Amino acid sequence: MSQRTFSIIKPDAVRKGYTGAILAEIEKAGFKIVAIKKISISKAQAEGFYHVHSARPFFGSLTDFMSSGAIFPMVLEKDNAIADLRRLMGATNPANAEEGTIRKKFAGSIEENAIHGSDAEDTASFEIGYFFAGYELA
Ligand code: ADP
Ligand code: MG
Repeated sequence: MSQRTFSIIKPDAVRKGYTGAILAEIEKAGFKIVAIKKISISKAQAEGFYHVHSARPFFGSLTDFMSSGAIFPMVLEKDNAIADLRRLMGATNPANAEEGTIRKKFAGSIEENAIHGSDAEDTASFEIGYFFAGYELA
């Protein structure tokens, strides 16, 4: 059944000029891009987005990184979108990511790992609502 998920092309990938290549991988894998925009977020906005990780030792560094440059948040749609995007992204640490995955191809480190993808239906709805208004999602 058709499902929506939320993704971000992170600042490292945008800086390195990988945006187009990553979008091509996403479209090739059968995702429809429902909404996308280029924005920069503040440290406080990054903290709100990653609030579930607030107790982790890397929270400060992660939110500095996510507010360090332009990002492309987007909403993606296909059958089984949440699980399929996670598979296409590869493991959080690119050193452990499978061959052919976006993180294997484009990520530099466990923190600067090119792409975000929602991990469940409830986090996908929170994350879509964090970055997009209803009228942007028609
Ligand atoms: P994922 O993005 O694969 O769902 P997590 O939800 O566990 O991974 O972590 C969120 C983000 O925090 C990661 O994508 C990565 O940018 C960063 N991160 C995760 N673990 C670490 C770590 N050990 N050190 C530094 N940054 C990390
Ligand atoms: Mg996660």
